[in-house]
Amino acid sequence: MTTSDDELQQLLLTLSTQFRERLEKELPELHTLAQQLLTSNDSAVQQLILRDIREQLHKLAGAAGTFGYAELGIQARALELSSVALLNASTVAQLQAHAQALQLFSQQDCVAQISDSSEPSTAPYLNSSDSKVNRRIYILEPDQQLGESLQSTLQNFGYATEHVRTSVALRAAVNRQLPDVLIIDSHLDEENPDGLAFAHELAAQLPLPLPLLVISQQHDFDTRLRAVRVGVAGFFTKPLNFSALESRLDSIFVQQRGKPYRVLIIDDDLELSKRYRLVLDNAGMQVETLSQPQNIDEVMHRFNPEVVLLDVHMPLCSGPELAQIIRFNDAWLRVPIIYLSAETDISNQIKALLKAGDDFISKPISDHALVASILARAQRARLLSNALSRDSLTGLLKHADIKEQVAVEVERSARNGGSACVVMLDLDNFKQVNDRYGHAIGDNVIRALSNLLRQRLRRIDSIGRYGGEEFTVVLPDCNLEQAKNILDEIRQRFAELPFMAHDSSFHVTFSAGIAQGNSQSNANQLIELADQAMYAAKAAGRNQVLCSTSAC
Ligand code: GH3
Ligand code: MG
Ligand code: MG
Repeated sequence: MTTSDDELQQLLLTLSTQFRERLEKELPELHTLAQQLLTSNDSAVQQLILRDIREQLHKLAGAAGTFGYAELGIQARALELSSVALLNASTVAQLQAHAQALQLFSQQDCVAQISDSSEPSTAPYLNSSDSKVNRRIYILEPDQQLGESLQSTLQNFGYATEHVRTSVALRAAVNRQLPDVLIIDSHLDEENPDGLAFAHELAAQLPLPLPLLVISQQHDFDTRLRAVRVGVAGFFTKPLNFSALESRLDSIFVQQRGKPYRVLIIDDDLELSKRYRLVLDNAGMQVETLSQPQNIDEVMHRFNPEVVLLDVHMPLCSGPELAQIIRFNDAWLRVPIIYLSAETDISNQIKALLKAGDDFISKPISDHALVASILARAQRARLLSNALSRDSLTGLLKHADIKEQVAVEVERSARNGGSACVVMLDLDNFKQVNDRYGHAIGDNVIRALSNLLRQRLRRIDSIGRYGGEEFTVVLPDCNLEQAKNILDEIRQRFAELPFMAHDSSFHVTFSAGIAQGNSQSNANQLIELADQAMYAAKAAGRNQVLCSTSAC
């Protein structure tokens, strides 16, 4: 085992220990929540507790498997799903049974039991964890009302948010656990009146740089210049435009949230490609290796890589020859082909590049340099590809691409014996929003809904802007009931979002229709059925989610 593998194992072990500590804290918290659920008689309070429980379970379910607690993760996922089901309709008996199941779950001695027997998983952390649920945002805002509204808005988007009113409390929170983003008011308390100066000082003490957003009463040039010099990632004046702030958060997280980059390594040296694979895997990329060049078509089709890493000297056919075979297919013209070779003779490198291929990386290469250079190329390739297929206002798939994605997922699910759900979703009375507040504010609403969908849905789900204020979503491996639950939850959260226009705020709702695929369905039919259900929801009074059959 190489040094770097040792380091990797060490890193994974440290992460696993941290996770065990987290379990030791979170399981008792869950137990307390379950106890509160058992003793509460107020259904509104019960719903709030259930939401907390669901959020905790969701985080556990997303992370446990990665750290070697596979069984715990499975149990947490099952309980999470039943919490979601109870969120909409539940009887007293159901709630009690649920609370009891939760108590059993939280009391089991899984910490000792599992950590003894399990090796930490070597699965890449980024691939298997649902990173969005771990995003933590601290808000330092002395104005109680503003802080609370911002907190609840961001919670609606799925962020774990904590609001504090004083610089001392923020320091304590940061010492307890680092957030992913800080939001600080430029005008604070007596101890630290100047928010920007405080942010600057705090940033210098942090172990890593954190994105910082600033809320300010002033918007003069000097204040903004000071903010730039403190290194803020966003500057927002009061009255606060919540959706603009959320949009900025969304763009901060967009790289992290993206699906892992897909990298194909073609090398006849199995040991070496295994090693590259481990290094890139560990950096959060999804990697496949190929040692038999004649299988190139099958891998390109199935894996659809965003970067191809190609050895130059191989026995059956050379790298440049294989690159030319790849380039014969128009569908793969956009995929960068990088030679990874011990070839140091520049003229030989140029000869190879003239045939096909885009760049050379010389062996040997350090792990760090390998990750950095592949990441840079993968990011650029994806940006380019997104620019061609994504809608510019929302960053969602465009009409033709989401339709294609629906077809792919419906077919894939049918092949695997599962089912996918297709959702059509349309903003209610949106023309009035434009007429009353103007087109630009209407655009904010469209953007906020797309951000909310991205935040709330899973990574495997695809979201597209079907047309103006109409969206299409495809949820693989999902039944009608699950689809209805998640869409209803999104619907409620969206209806609660305040939008700012001039000095007043307003709310918008949407209607949605869902259709579930089966082994015979085709994408166009499902979109049509979902559309009909969506119109039925409009006819039934809007702000609701209906299914295309009587199943839910
Ligand atoms: P319903 O509840 O029946 O869907 O009513 P509606 O007013 O939402 O539906 P209608 O189809 O009458 O109006 C849709 C409006 O959406 C009209 C159009 O100007 C607006 N719209 C479409 N695309 C955009 C966009 O990109 N930005 C903005 N601001 N408005 C848009
Ligand atoms: Mg509409
Ligand atoms: Mg419409």
